[in-house]
Amino acid sequence: MSNPSLLILAGDGIGPEVMAEVRRIIDWFGDKRGMAFDVTEDLVGGCAYDAHGTPLHDDTMAKAQAADAVLLGAVGGPKYDALDFSVKPERGLLRLRKEMDLFANLRPAQCFDALADFSSLKREVVAGLDIMIVRELTSGIYFGEPRGIVTEGNERVGINTQRYTESEIDRVARAAFELARKRGGKLCSMEKANVMESGVLWREVVTKIGAADYPDVELSHMYADAGAMQLCRWPKQFDVIVTDNLFGDLLSDAAAMLTGSLGMLPSASLGAPMDNGRPKALYEPVHGSAPDIAGQGKANPIACILSFAMALRYSFDAGSEADRLEAAVAQVLADGVRTADLMGPDGGTPVTTTGMGDAVLAALDASL
Ligand code: NAD
Repeated sequence: MSNPSLLILAGDGIGPEVMAEVRRIIDWFGDKRGMAFDVTEDLVGGCAYDAHGTPLHDDTMAKAQAADAVLLGAVGGPKYDALDFSVKPERGLLRLRKEMDLFANLRPAQCFDALADFSSLKREVVAGLDIMIVRELTSGIYFGEPRGIVTEGNERVGINTQRYTESEIDRVARAAFELARKRGGKLCSMEKANVMESGVLWREVVTKIGAADYPDVELSHMYADAGAMQLCRWPKQFDVIVTDNLFGDLLSDAAAMLTGSLGMLPSASLGAPMDNGRPKALYEPVHGSAPDIAGQGKANPIACILSFAMALRYSFDAGSEADRLEAAVAQVLADGVRTADLMGPDGGTPVTTTGMGDAVLAALDASL
């Protein structure tokens, strides 16, 4: 049987730097755990524009469609700011998400004990936090028609439309129920059913699926504004949260920052199952290309490393190996190993991007 395939798109800025560390970790799993991947690398974003005049070449798109999973670094940078909107680096990423139809965006908010003092909230509120926000990614108000700026009478009107079909709600809700079943068994669905018809339908569909197919998952509903408040008040009450594109955009950013540095946050975007049963999938850190620190060995590779851990769990059915990698990261942090973004009140041992990769590899070795 052939090895599972992984397409790596390191991108721009710190993307290639953090991805170099992930490559070493991928090789470690091949050498030490017998989990070899067929890895292909290609271009996305500004570097693809430099090479091909487009932020995502059609050949690369075809490779992404065929891969068992795609791992992306980051795109963008000041060099490309003046480009036409149609060829900006971010368009490459948007095309991947759209053409792979990645409708479920998974954003974990996990607080490593060693970093609990980095949060803007009190240690007891965030220590041990481990929640997952599932944001619908391909529909809702960012895509609904009509949209635009029109003139009515003697003034202009900006229009966007919140629109959800039952099937769009159904598929993202099922993804969230499945996750809840594998995690703590609790799902909270957030919308504004009190003031929005799309929210009424959202609540109806989620309730129906829960009763019919997931009676073992404890389902609750919350208005999204109250949800935002509860996320800041006592986030540990949640396990999995499912919500629409707009509310998910806001709530996942807020929840992520409960846990400290941008350099720590992974994400996964999942689509429908392929013929082999694996979901279409793109894994990427939440951060951008960080041009202010690119090329200086300062970037924290943990967000990208944890994105690969998500790939192990959600694409390659290797949850225990994902646990091993996450535990290695937790160990390194507990040992006080710190890239510049993690240097805080507790001091710690400063390391470069490569130094952090070395430390995670050493912790992986120690886990055997
Ligand atoms: P950014 O996430 O690149 O950087 C924000 C701040 O966080 C910077 O000070 C940066 O140094 C720091 N930072 C980010 N990642 C870090 C890491 N791994 N380790 C240490 N510090 C880190 O956001 P920005 O500055 O708003 O955007 C820069 C470029 O990235 C822009 O061109 C933007 O369009 C692009 N961008 C791309 C993505 C993506 O590829 N998914 C996401 C956001 C922004």
